[in-house]
Amino acid sequence: MKKKTHWFDYMWIVSATYFVMGFFNIVFAWFGMICFIIPLLVAIIGGNKIWCNRYCGRGQIFLVLGNKLGLSRGKAAPRWLSSKWFRNGFLVFFMSFFINMIYVTILVAKDIRSLSETVNLLWTINVPWHWAYPVEIEPWKAQFAFGLYGIMLTSVIVGIVLTIIYRPRTWCVCCPMGNMTQMICKLKNK
Ligand code: SF4
Repeated sequence: MKKKTHWFDYMWIVSATYFVMGFFNIVFAWFGMICFIIPLLVAIIGGNKIWCNRYCGRGQIFLVLGNKLGLSRGKAAPRWLSSKWFRNGFLVFFMSFFINMIYVTILVAKDIRSLSETVNLLWTINVPWHWAYPVEIEPWKAQFAFGLYGIMLTSVIVGIVLTIIYRPRTWCVCCPMGNMTQMICKLKNK
């Protein structure tokens, strides 16, 4: 029997639109904060992972690419990827980039550092992204947007690579947001 589809099954379109919009205008990158705040709020208030199970557009992108478009090899991921030490280590690594992004934003806000119109990809490469800054906003707001977009784009690129090499949503086994919400749910439901 065909599974009934719901509006939230199309959240991948919202996510894909986010990346396209951010490509042309970095201000839209601010919407990425929704993907940070809502899952945490849902976990804190509801004590569940309904965001991951239903609404996360990024997770759905991996399913669409892997299952619908058949781009996944469907191989099991190595076990270390879902081990506690790797998930927690990756969370620390990810958070250090997030904190650094906020730090750089503060430096730009205080005029200590100038705005960098680049997007940091894969935690290493600063890719020029100046075309996406067509409307001038306060430099710190733009800096935060460039930083956040880099984090979001990196996670989707790594997730797509993992989808292709292993199974769709392999990223989810070590996703920092998924890990954080898991921890919160465990604490809340103790
Ligand atoms: S684990 Fe991360 S990418 Fe996967 S569904 Fe949850 S928030 Fe989305």
